[in-house]
Amino acid sequence: MRRYWAKHPKKELEALLGEFHEAGWRIENPKRKYYRVKCPCGEHKKSVHISPSDPNYVKNTLSWLYRQPCYQEGRR
Ligand SMILES: [Zn+2]
Repeated sequence: MRRYWAKHPKKELEALLGEFHEAGWRIENPKRKYYRVKCPCGEHKKSVHISPSDPNYVKNTLSWLYRQPCYQEGRR
């Protein structure tokens, strides 16, 4: 995996961004509090927090990713 985005200060969230990357999503560097991630089909996007307060944030965001209809197609 080749990272082109600004590294996330939290290890588990950096890994989360890596999952989006592996699935073919485009990661935009953070402006203020969020990274923006955009899916390969162009119809889905999400904000990824710099410092989420929810302890299940990584888990929940990953399951959201897996539920996207374009997830399998974008996988590489
Ligand atoms: Zn999509």
